[in-house]
Formats: sequence, C-alpha cells, structure tokens
Amino acid sequence: MQVFEVLQGDSPVVLGQPHGGTHVPEAIATRLNENGRGLADTDWHITRLFDGLLPDATVVKSNIHRYVIDANRDPSGVSLYPGQNTTTLVPLTDFDGTDIWSEGQEPSEDEVEQRRAAYHAPYHDALPAELERVHNKHGVAILFDCHSIRSNIPFLFEGELPIFNTGTNLGATCAPAIETAVNAVAEASGLGAVLNGRFKGGWTTRHYGRPETGIHAVQMEISQRAYMEETPPWNWRDDRAAITRPHLQQMLEKLSEIALSGTL
Ligand SMILES: [Zn+2]
Repeated sequence: MQVFEVLQGDSPVVLGQPHGGTHVPEAIATRLNENGRGLADTDWHITRLFDGLLPDATVVKSNIHRYVIDANRDPSGVSLYPGQNTTTLVPLTDFDGTDIWSEGQEPSEDEVEQRRAAYHAPYHDALPAELERVHNKHGVAILFDCHSIRSNIPFLFEGELPIFNTGTNLGATCAPAIETAVNAVAEASGLGAVLNGRFKGGWTTRHYGRPETGIHAVQMEISQRAYMEETPPWNWRDDRAAITRPHLQQMLEKLSEIALSGTL
C-alpha cells in the first residue's frame, strides 16, 4: 500500500486530499473497536467527486485513514480549534465523541511518533514538493484542499452545515481574490455557502497558505449530502453529485484563470 499518491498536472491548481484514504494497516486495525472499524469520519468518495473537474490539476492524496494519523492536523499535536470539540492528530474518538479504540489499545506517544514518521511525514513531503513544482512553473500555486463531512454532527457544531464551507483562516491563507472567487461561486450555486464559519481551514491550509510567497491555500469542506448517503454504507449518489460537481468545476476553473492572469 502506497502511503500517498500524486497525479501531476500542469495547472497552477493543486488538489489536496488528506482524508479520502481508507487503508488501516492490519496491526492498527485490530486495535480499533467496532465503532472505529466503521471509519465513519472518512471524506468518502472525495477523489471521485473532484475527478476530471480540472483535468490538468495536480492531485496529492493520502491513502491512509485519518484514524491511523490525521494528515490534516499539526504534527506537533497543537489543537486546530482550541477550546472547541475537535479531533486530534491521532484521534481517540470519532466526530460524535465516541471512542474508536478498544480499551487499553489507544496509541502511546511513541506510537504516535512512529505513525507520524511513517504516514504523516511522507504526505507532507509530497505536497510541498508539488506546490513548489507548480510554483516554479507559474510563479504562483493554489492549493485547494478537498474535504467532506456529514451535514449534522452535534458534537462538533449546531444545526445543519451549508453545502459549501470555505476556509481561509479568516483570509490569512490566500489572496482576497481567491477567497472571493470561491465563495462567490458557492453563494451563486444556491446550495448554501459560508466563508470561515465552523471550518476555517485545517492545518494543511494554514501551514501552506503563504500568499506573500505566491503559495495560496483554501479549504473546501463539502456537506456529504451534496453527493452521497450520509449513513453506512456511504453510497455515492449520481443524482446529487451531478448537481454539485458543476459548481466545484466552476470554482477550480476560476482559480486557474486568476492564477494564470498574472494578477496575484
Ligand atoms: Zn477532511
């Protein structure tokens, strides 16, 4: 099993997909409890959702499940949302706050470090390498970090999420034109949109988004009802995806256009 996969393209846009992977190494899988083995917090079908929308975009995706180690969390273990419920570098619970490890099988600090070196680090060697390659070619690179989540998770947030949740850490991770373009498409979709609401961008977006260096990052957290069933077995829904995908395509095309315009 490859830890991550890279599909190289010539576009200035790089799609990050840290949470679509479902692989759990056997020695770790046996320590998950029944709830954990359900892998409920996967960004299900995220590669399929974006497949072909911007044919020349680079894709960097992790194949390892976030319960092994979360590629979108600070490797030093700092909380993404201090003071709020959130999941950690190696989560102990799922998004509902329910334990995922069998009793006494939670990973030790040493194991977290081993998993970081084996699964988190390789992904985060590959992603900046692609951003640098694209940046060298165009003088600019835009990381569009692709995520999805169940629409209703009372442990994490109140009520139902809008379909498109754009995160730029309050504008810190990209040029204003990028944030504005993505959110404008999201709002015009009529499907429901929020900018820097509950989801402000994970560690990936915050870590790589350095607009002053020509590397911009934006996170798109999509409510899963936009393209799938939100209960096991998490089936893909063609009818829903057909409505959602054109808006995502428009966002990516717009970002590519802005990047190539030389105005960033
Ligand atoms: Zn995610």
